[in-house]
Amino acid sequence: MSNSTKYVFVTGGVTSSLGKGIISASLAKLLQARGYSVTIQKLDPYINIDPGTLNPYEHGECFVTDDGAETDLDLGHYERFLNTPTSQANNVTTGRIYQSVIDKERRGEFLGKTVQVIPHITNEIKERIQLLGKKGTYDIVITEIGGTVGDIESLPYVEAVRQMMWEFENDCIVIHLTLVPYLRAAGELKTKPTQHSVKQLLELGVQPDILCCRTEHELDLTLRRKIAQFCNVSMNAVIESRDADTIYDVPLLMQAEELDKVVLEKLSLPTKSIPKLDNWKSFLERLKAPKSEVTIGLVGKYVELKDSYKSISEAFIHAGVSNESKVNIKWIHSEKVVKGNLDAELGDLDGILVAPGFGSRGISGKIETVRYARENNVPFLGICLGMQCAVIEFARNVLGLSDAHTTEIVDDCKAPVISMMEEQKNISNLGGTMRLGAYKCHLTPGSHVSDAYNTEKISERHRHRYEFNNEYLEQFEENGMKATGRNPETGLVEVVEIENHPWFVGAQFHPEYKSTVDNPHPLFVAFVDAVLKNKK
Ligand code: GLN
Repeated sequence: MSNSTKYVFVTGGVTSSLGKGIISASLAKLLQARGYSVTIQKLDPYINIDPGTLNPYEHGECFVTDDGAETDLDLGHYERFLNTPTSQANNVTTGRIYQSVIDKERRGEFLGKTVQVIPHITNEIKERIQLLGKKGTYDIVITEIGGTVGDIESLPYVEAVRQMMWEFENDCIVIHLTLVPYLRAAGELKTKPTQHSVKQLLELGVQPDILCCRTEHELDLTLRRKIAQFCNVSMNAVIESRDADTIYDVPLLMQAEELDKVVLEKLSLPTKSIPKLDNWKSFLERLKAPKSEVTIGLVGKYVELKDSYKSISEAFIHAGVSNESKVNIKWIHSEKVVKGNLDAELGDLDGILVAPGFGSRGISGKIETVRYARENNVPFLGICLGMQCAVIEFARNVLGLSDAHTTEIVDDCKAPVISMMEEQKNISNLGGTMRLGAYKCHLTPGSHVSDAYNTEKISERHRHRYEFNNEYLEQFEENGMKATGRNPETGLVEVVEIENHPWFVGAQFHPEYKSTVDNPHPLFVAFVDAVLKNKK
């Protein structure tokens, strides 16, 4: 059988957290820079339908796509590296696979057959992989298999890969990512865990074509030869992946190891093209030579796990580079911010961001933080719950509505300045009531936001249940908090700004999801610019 789309599978061995996502994104970047159209998909072996209902402490941030899929944070890396949007099809979990197979079973689609992991679950996995290829838009689909080879839960995925390798033998390859640890006592790098990991894959019928070896030290020729010999791969397919200063170095490190060239050779694709990475390189140069430095406080309740705010911290890196400035993030736990310690917690900041979130924990600290930023003219960006806190704070302390709150926290509050829209109220399933994905927004000419975007019509991604309550809009606007971004169809308030303040913006949407290396997000760029001016 032949298939015009090529498939690259990325598996992981030895341990988790080796950075399969970054390796996949880096390879995709190199192939894209050679003119190939590439997409990346992540298969997650957990039973949740999607990470939407997962606590960020479990897997970090939930990334949202234009089509409203709640996905793994690796999709954020894919978009930031490739500057192309992903979709629901780019992230599939075991839960989703099973749900779909069980739905088919209920509809009688298996004609009375016994439904089994093999072939039904593996067929569903193979279909999901090929769905992206069948679209005809991609030359190469890179599929990252979550988890570590040998885990019980990733077995059906590895079996699906084995079958595809056999069915489309010239169009599929496997890259296996392993760890080559350094034993200080022996003063040596050790290849045994890699050998064992490859053996484990072989037991499942999969021979990797390329090994990417994470290591803290140089893999010399002797080690490369040893790994090649014991793992049945060619010497040039043993790729060293050293720890890097920044994830944005990894594509160039992989290029130096010729990962892209080896992949193309193994897929029988031409290798003559020269990767165009001028933008990427100039981004890296500017990243490494900032002309100034600012410190922005990120106030949130998940700051112990920085991955919970991955897209925000990456957006600050992009916006910093645009402003030739290094943005230091001071991670501030919203539960620790109280009236008595505002100066101590926030006094040294050049700018303040109040983060998205759900539920009541830490909310009073967020509201106090907003007050501090508003009263002390500190440039402020509030995202989603952060914007809602800005609205609540303004209602309480400027409009004098002391009971103002969001109905997410006080269901029957007297001044529900943030509330749920009528049509949402009937849907009670968790995950069912959210406004998710891309929505249009019109900006007010002359506002900070329209200046930032340099246009009046934008589209941004959402993930929330509650909204600005338009019954209060007039009161807000009369007192200096303006709705400068609104949904053209529903009239929902998407952006608020305070007039008499250097830069105070609250966004109901999540700008961070759309910031990429090639397109740093305009709102973050404008925020960092305001922060720099504030510092001077
Ligand atoms: N909890 C708020 C809501 O559901 C905000 C959500 C968020 O910050 N992503 O509306």
